[in-house]
Amino acid sequence: MIVVVSGPSGVGKTTVARAVVDRMEGVNFSVSHTTRPPRGGEVHGKDYYFVSREEFLRMVDQGEFVEWAEVYGHLYGTSREELERKLRMGDVLLDIDVQGALSVKKLFPRSVRIMLFPPSLEVLKERIRRRGDTPPEDMARRLEKARWELKHYPYFTHIVINQVLEETVEEVCSIIKGERRREFRMEERARRIIWEEG
Ligand code: 5GP
Repeated sequence: MIVVVSGPSGVGKTTVARAVVDRMEGVNFSVSHTTRPPRGGEVHGKDYYFVSREEFLRMVDQGEFVEWAEVYGHLYGTSREELERKLRMGDVLLDIDVQGALSVKKLFPRSVRIMLFPPSLEVLKERIRRRGDTPPEDMARRLEKARWELKHYPYFTHIVINQVLEETVEEVCSIIKGERRREFRMEERARRIIWEEG
């Protein structure tokens, strides 16, 4: 099962995604490739595969990405190899932007796509401001982009409003548990029990 956690930047995707992966057995994090330089504490191969723009574009040319997008000047992508490797291990969780989530919907219509909403745009603004990576003159554009992204909610399967982190994590875990029991995901096990010899 492919689970996408998406939403506008600053909504808390990465924090939520990491907590869910830590907490849930059988859910593995899809490590993206990026041309963004590492931030303090980020580890190559754990948080991202940090690559040069040349290497990234070579991978695009070779068709190595399932989806990729440019986000605030840097390139980000999910490689086919990473996705397949993580799917062999169990369920896979992708922390990607809204454009990426739309690409995943096209390729994998049965993917679970969770859109994280802020409680309000005012709260989102405050979170972005506190993160300190957005100059005040870029704030209006950033919020406009957030509004545009949130308007794509109908392309998602679930919406979770990220008000209290712990509750959001719980809700996402519950969604994953519920989705695992959908008829089409249980078919093989159901048939095995029905047709079991003896
Ligand atoms: P950050 O630089 O803050 O880690 O991530 C910036 C944005 O890029 C976030 O919205 C994050 O979810 C998104 N992102 C990270 N990896 C991917 C990816 O592989 N594909 C897409 N489309 N977006 C990604």
